[in-house]
Amino acid sequence: MSAEHELEVLNPATEEVVATVPAADAADVDRAVARAAVAQRSWAAAAPADRARLLRRFADAVDTHIEELAQLEVREAGHLLGNARWEAGNARDLLLYAAGGAERLLGKQIPVPGGWNVTFQEPLGVVGVIAPWNFPMPIAAWGSFPALAAGNAVVLKPAETTPLTALRLAELALEAGLPEGLFQVLPGYGHVAGRALVDHPDVAKIVFTGSTRTGREVMERCARLVKPVTLELGGKSPNIVFADADLKSAIDPFSFLDNSGQDCCARTRILVQESVYDEVRDLLADALSTVVVGDPADEKTQMGPLISRQQLDLVRSFVPEDAPALRGGAPDGPGFWFAPTVLTGERHDSAAACEEIFGPVAVLLPFTDEQDAIRLANDTPYGLAGSLWTRDLGRALRVSQAVRAGNLSVNSHSAVRYWTPFGGFKQSGVGRELGPDALAAFTETKNVFISTEGPAQ
Ligand code: NDP
Repeated sequence: MSAEHELEVLNPATEEVVATVPAADAADVDRAVARAAVAQRSWAAAAPADRARLLRRFADAVDTHIEELAQLEVREAGHLLGNARWEAGNARDLLLYAAGGAERLLGKQIPVPGGWNVTFQEPLGVVGVIAPWNFPMPIAAWGSFPALAAGNAVVLKPAETTPLTALRLAELALEAGLPEGLFQVLPGYGHVAGRALVDHPDVAKIVFTGSTRTGREVMERCARLVKPVTLELGGKSPNIVFADADLKSAIDPFSFLDNSGQDCCARTRILVQESVYDEVRDLLADALSTVVVGDPADEKTQMGPLISRQQLDLVRSFVPEDAPALRGGAPDGPGFWFAPTVLTGERHDSAAACEEIFGPVAVLLPFTDEQDAIRLANDTPYGLAGSLWTRDLGRALRVSQAVRAGNLSVNSHSAVRYWTPFGGFKQSGVGRELGPDALAAFTETKNVFISTEGPAQ
C-alpha cells in the first residue's frame, strides 16, 4: 500500500510506530454515507426509549474498556494516563447524558386560532463529524453522541495522527448492539476523506473542530450546498488577574500547560494588573521550574510531548531562543518535547500574543485598570474561553459581561463540562456543543398546523 492509502500512527513520546491503518478515499466515504443513510432510517423510526437503551449499553461497553481506551490515547496522542482515563470516562458520561436526551427531545404545542399547532424535532439524517488530534476521544464524542441520540447516523473522520481511540469506540458501539452502519469511523486525510464528507450531498450537517483556517474552508464548501455547520475553532484565551485576586491560584500554570498547551481553551494570554506584575512573574517562574515533563505513561509526569514534529516546529517558530521568557525543563532525545514557557517581552499585538500557538507557551502582559483589561482581553479575533480573578463581585460580573467569549470562569480555570454549553464567539466558531440543548443542534424543527374547523367548503 502506498503512503497515500495508509496512515502511520506514531507515539509522540518515542516516535515509534504504534499502528498503521488504511486511509479512506472519496469512494470509501461514498459507501459509508450510503450505509449510514440506510441505518439512520430505522434508527430514527425506533422508539426513543429503545435508542436510549442501546446508547446506555454503549456507555457500559466504554466503561468496561476505560483502561484500554486510556492506554491507547497515551500511545497515539501522548496524553498523561490520568487525563486519558478522564477522557474515556467523559465519552461514557456523555453517552449516558445524551441517552436521557433521546427520551426528552420534545416539541411544542403553540396556541393558534382555528386549530392545533405542534412542532417536532426531526433528525437531520447523516451527520459528518471531523475531529482533531488534541482531544481525540472527547471531541469525537461531543460531535457524535448527541447526534446519534437525536436519531441521526454519524460518519466520523478522526485526525490522521490519532485515529485509534475513535476506531475502538466504533467497535464498542457495534458490540453494544448499535445497528451496523450507524456510527462509522473513517480514518483518512483531511484534504481527501474530510473534504469528501464536507462535499457529500447526502451528509446533512458537518461538525468540525480544528483550526480557524480549515474551519473557514469547511464553512465555505458547506455554503455551496446550504449545509449547516457547527464549528469549534481556535482560541487565544485571556487569564485576567486583578491585583486583589488569590494570585497563586490565578496563575496555575496548568491553565495553559494542560495537554502540553494543545487545548483550544488554554489561557495563553496572561493579563496581569501592573501593580502585581513582578509578583506574578516570580510566582510563575517558580511554578514553571517544578513542572515534571516526560513519559506520559508515568503517573508522576505533569506534562507530556507535543503531538508531532510539525507541531513542534510550529511552536518553535513563535519562540526565538533569545526571547525574554520564563522557562521550565523538557527531555532531550526522541519525542516531540517543548519546555513550558512564558514570554515576558511581547507586545500585546505581536504574533505570539495574538495567534493560537497550540503548545506550552503563554505571554505575560500588564494592564492598568478594568477597562484596559477588557480591551486587551477582547483584542484578538478569537472568543472561545477565559478566566478572570478578583475578590470584587461587582467587577467579576462587569468583566464577565464585557469579555466576548463563549466560556468564562470566575476565580477558577474550569474545564469543559458535558452538561453545559460549549462554543466560541467571533472566529472561535459557530454554534454550540454539549449542554442541555446539544441534541437540538442535530434536528430540524417541523411545524404542523391541524385545522379543527374541517375541510374548507
Ligand atoms: P486542522 O484544522 O487542519 O485539522 C482538524 C481536522 O480537520 C483533522 O481531522 C484534519 O484532517 C481535518 N481537515 C484538514 N483539512 C481539511 C479539509 N480541507 N476539509 C475537511 N477536513 C480537513 O488542524 P491541524 O491538525 O492541521 O493543526 C493545525 C493547527 O490548528 C494547530 O497548530 C492548532 O493551532 C489548530 N488546531 C486547533 C484545534 C482546536 O481545537 N481549536 C484542534 C486542532 C488544531 P488531518 O488530520 O488529515 O489533517
